[in-house]
Amino acid sequence: MRVAIAGAGLAGLSCAKYLVDAGHTPIVLESRDVLGGKVAAWKDEDGDWYETGLHIFFGAYPNVLQLFKELNIEDRLQWKEHTMIFNQPTAPGTYSRFDFPDIPAPINGVTAILRNNDMLTWGEKIRFGLGLIPAMIKGQNYVEEMDKYSFSEWLKKQNVPPRVEKEVFIAMAKALNFIDPDEISATVVLTALNRFLQERYGSKMAFLDGAPPERLCQPMVDHVTEQGGQVRMKAPLKEIVLNEDNMVKHFVIRGLDGAPDEILTADLYVSAMPVDPLKVILPQPWKQMDYFKKLDGLEGVPVINLHMWFDRKLTDVDHLLFSRSPLLSVYADMSNTCREYENPDRSMLELVLAPAKDWITKSDEEIIAATMLEIEKLFPDHFVGDDPAKLLKYKVVKTPRSVYKATPGRQACRPTQTTPISNFYLTGDYTMQRYLASMEGAVLSGKLTAQAIASAHPNSAAPAPGQKSLQTTTA
Ligand SMILES: Cc1cc2nc3c(=O)[nH]c(=O)nc-3n(C[C@H](O)[C@H](O)[C@H](O)COP(=O)(O)OP(=O)(O)OC[C@H]3O[C@@H](n4cnc5c(N)ncnc54)[C@H](O)[C@@H]3O)c2cc1C
Repeated sequence: MRVAIAGAGLAGLSCAKYLVDAGHTPIVLESRDVLGGKVAAWKDEDGDWYETGLHIFFGAYPNVLQLFKELNIEDRLQWKEHTMIFNQPTAPGTYSRFDFPDIPAPINGVTAILRNNDMLTWGEKIRFGLGLIPAMIKGQNYVEEMDKYSFSEWLKKQNVPPRVEKEVFIAMAKALNFIDPDEISATVVLTALNRFLQERYGSKMAFLDGAPPERLCQPMVDHVTEQGGQVRMKAPLKEIVLNEDNMVKHFVIRGLDGAPDEILTADLYVSAMPVDPLKVILPQPWKQMDYFKKLDGLEGVPVINLHMWFDRKLTDVDHLLFSRSPLLSVYADMSNTCREYENPDRSMLELVLAPAKDWITKSDEEIIAATMLEIEKLFPDHFVGDDPAKLLKYKVVKTPRSVYKATPGRQACRPTQTTPISNFYLTGDYTMQRYLASMEGAVLSGKLTAQAIASAHPNSAAPAPGQKSLQTTTA
């Protein structure tokens, strides 16, 4: 089968990878000149990388880890100590850690929580633990039912003291979906907590050793093209043209730089675009169908990724940090955490600004000025005296519509990878899979779409030599 896939983010590339493995021929169309979508990155005039987002890989990402293994690039993941590090706003420049001992789950997680006495009192920890019991015992069905509540509402319902939300879960909600606990669905936080507490290495984190387009996406492209597939850059899908029976007749690719539009005919068609541009491009007859109408309930959330290069080292912490700043979410000194960005003399902080709705329209200068005030609190020792640290340069990357905003009720709006149109499929982190909007969710969705295609077309789906048949990897 020739399968046209619009979008070369992780979902589109994963779908293409697993389709060639199953003996099909994918043709991936990417509108931009850079691979990766929300993991895209660029080099500035000095050769320094800047990225769409600070990206963390977790031990609880079985399909991503399997993909690294299949591409033979496992050594590109730089695993960090098994800990979670939070800044302490009341004692600027100090940290509070949740250290996970190397013993089976959930005892390692429980030990990490019980040993941390900076952030929560014993009473608060016990009441939180009791509140969590239904999620741990009843499992994912209970977690899915909780999609009717925001995480704040769920905490209140479970009689968890408000300080638990303030101390721990504002940071967690911002890290998971770039919004606060009063907006985020309880399902999202509980899903993450379940993975982190039930898997020994679930919350262990890794950084990629360089920029994702080169270090992760390119090996996927090489794998696809070596087996006869194609990945075409600067080839935006302009229109989905239908036959009279509402099946896809062909894709129209917009001609750029004065070139004419192009018609691409394939056996099957996949959208691997984010949900917002997909809604714009949907053919009129499809918009009336319940399956596609549900997509109106999904919309990307704004987020801003900041890069700040300093004239000296601000920290030697080689890990992700939860800032607990009202302006910022997580951050890392990439000169410590990432091999390709390594610098023994100067820090490069990558910071996520969230919630970003009030900042997305502000100028880069305003954003950096506000961020500098926060950085002075995070690293107070370096901004006093006669020779304070200097900001050498910065890059601000705004994504007005990033991953879908996971407010209560969104689970019911997430579509399956199979659509009512038999020659058209969806893939992307927003489609239904159990890992929410994440790299794992994107890779898994791509695999599920390839699987759906392979099972709908069994006669043509012969595994390529040396390839295993398609299997999703469960935790
Ligand atoms: C700031 C930030 C931080 C993040 N941090 C983490 C993290 O730490 N851990 C984690 O797991 N996840 C993280 N994520 C989420 C993760 O990046 C996404 O969930 C994932 O990359 C989405 O992949 P996707 O393929 O579904 O969509 P996308 O990456 O959005 O890919 C869609 C592709 O479609 C292309 N496209 C759009 N329109 C067209 C068209 N008309 N024709 C052709 N192509 C088109 C786009 O250019 C893009 O390449 C973060 C995201 C952001 C923004």
